[in-house]
Amino acid sequence: MQHRLIATSIPYMNAGPHMGHAMEFIIADIIARYNRASGNDVFFLTGADEHGSKIYNKAKELEKGTLQMLDEHVTLFKELEASLSIIPDDFIRTTDQVRHWPTAQAIWQKLAAKGDIYKKKYSGFYCEGCEVFMPEKDLDAEGNCPIHHKKPTLLEEENHFFQLSKYEYQLKKIISDDTVKIVPEFRKNEILSFLNEGLNDVSFSRSADKMPWGIPVPGDETQVMYVWCDALTNYLSGIGYSFDQEKFNTYYPTYLHVIGKDISRFHAIIYMAMLLSVDMETSKNILVHGFVTSEGEKMSKSLGNVVVPEDVINIYGADALRYFITVGGGGVGEDIDYTQTGFHNLYNSGLVNGLGNIANRTSTLFCKYYPEGTDTNSFVLDSEIEWVISGAYKTYTTSLEVFDLRTGYTAISTLIDLANKYFDEEKPWTIKDDPEKLRNVLLNLVEILYHINILVAPFLPQTAEKMREIFSLTDSKLASFFIDPSFWLTQANTTIKLVTVPLLFEKK
Ligand SMILES: [Zn+2]
Repeated sequence: MQHRLIATSIPYMNAGPHMGHAMEFIIADIIARYNRASGNDVFFLTGADEHGSKIYNKAKELEKGTLQMLDEHVTLFKELEASLSIIPDDFIRTTDQVRHWPTAQAIWQKLAAKGDIYKKKYSGFYCEGCEVFMPEKDLDAEGNCPIHHKKPTLLEEENHFFQLSKYEYQLKKIISDDTVKIVPEFRKNEILSFLNEGLNDVSFSRSADKMPWGIPVPGDETQVMYVWCDALTNYLSGIGYSFDQEKFNTYYPTYLHVIGKDISRFHAIIYMAMLLSVDMETSKNILVHGFVTSEGEKMSKSLGNVVVPEDVINIYGADALRYFITVGGGGVGEDIDYTQTGFHNLYNSGLVNGLGNIANRTSTLFCKYYPEGTDTNSFVLDSEIEWVISGAYKTYTTSLEVFDLRTGYTAISTLIDLANKYFDEEKPWTIKDDPEKLRNVLLNLVEILYHINILVAPFLPQTAEKMREIFSLTDSKLASFFIDPSFWLTQANTTIKLVTVPLLFEKK
C-alpha cells in the first residue's frame, strides 16, 4: 500500500467555476478513485487561491466584502465538485489564517534562511489582468498583453525576489531524469526547452499599500506575498505542514499534481525550486491537462460559446460529463473539443448503447431464466473470456498508473464488446431447452458484467453504484469495488442472483 497525495491546482476565486475546472476535478478524481480501489491510501486535495489584486478589485467592483465574495465563489466550487461525485479529503483555502498562513510564512522564512530571498528595485511592464510582470518579448506586436489585449502599466517597485536562477541546473536534472515526472512527454520537453533559455529570478512579494489583500511577509510589514509562496504552499498546508505533523509525514511528498497547461511552469519550475531550496523532497508526478474548447474555439463570452458544466450535468448527468472528459479527446494532455452533437453522439453510443445496453441485456435475460438465482456448482469459465478479462485488467492498470485515462477506459470497452460478441455467438435465448448450456452461457455473461462494473467505478461512480444493485450482493467484500484481477465472482461460492434495475442511461 502506498500513501498518495493527489492534488488539483487551486483555482483562482475571482469568479465561479467553468468547464476547465470540471475537467481537472474529474481527471484527478478518477485517478484518486482508481488508487483507492487498488489498495492505496489516498489523500485527495483541492482548494482555493484567494489573494491578489484581481480578487480585491473584483469584490470592490461588486460592492461586496472580499471574504463574502470569496465565500460565495468557494461555495460554487464545492457545489460543482459535489455534483460530479467528487468529495476531496480536504479543501484548503489560502485565506485560512489558522491552517494555511503559518505554512506559507514558515516556508518563506526557510527560503530566506537559505539566502534565496533578496530585496531589489524592479521596474517593468505589469499586466493587471495576468498579475505578472511581462518581459517585452512576451508582449504582442502592439505592445499589449497577448491575453488581455491591454497595454501593461510600467511599474516600479521594491520587492523581495526568489533566486530561481540558482536552481536551473538542478531543475533540468530532476525533470529530464523523471525524478519529477511531467506527463505528457511533450509538456516535459516544453519545460526543458524553457529551462534551456535560462531562468530569471522571480518577484516574490508586492508592496502592501498597493496590494492589501495577501499574506504578510514575515519580518517586513511593508510587503505581502505574491502568489508563488502564497498559493503553491497549499500542497503543504493542505496535508498539515504546520498543524498535523503525522498527517504531513504520511502523505508527503506529493504523488501527483493535476494542473492545466497554462500553469505548468509555475509548478514544474517555481514550486520545485522552492522545494529544492528548503531541502524538501520534490513531487513525483505532474500531469498537465489541456483545455476544453467549444466548437474548435477557446470558450469565451464574446464568442457566445461557453459551455457551463451544470447545464451538461442537468441534462445528461454527472457521469456523462466524466465519460466525455475521459474519452472525448485525443491523447493524454490534449485539448478536448466540446460540440453539442459530438457530446450527444458519444453519450448515446458509449453509454446508452454500449455500457447501459449490455447491463440491461444481461440482467434481463438472466432474471428471465433464473428469477431465483442459480448456484455455480461445476461451472467453468470460458477460457477465452477469462483471458480477455485478465488482459483488460493489465491494460487498465498499466494505463492508469501513467494517467492515461482514455486507454484505461478502452479496457472497459473491450469487455463490453466481448459480452456483445458472446451474446451474438451463443444466442442464449435459443437454447432454453438445454438448461446446462444456458446456465453456462449466462454465468459467463455475468462474470464479464461484474468486471465491467469494477473497472468502470473510478470513471463513472454513480453508474457503478446503480450497476452494483444488479448483482444484489450482500457480502461486503464482494460488494466493494476493489480491483483484484484474480477474483472471479462465479468462483466465489455464492449464489448468483441478479435483479433488473432501471436503465442506466436514458436515450436523449
Ligand atoms: Zn494580461
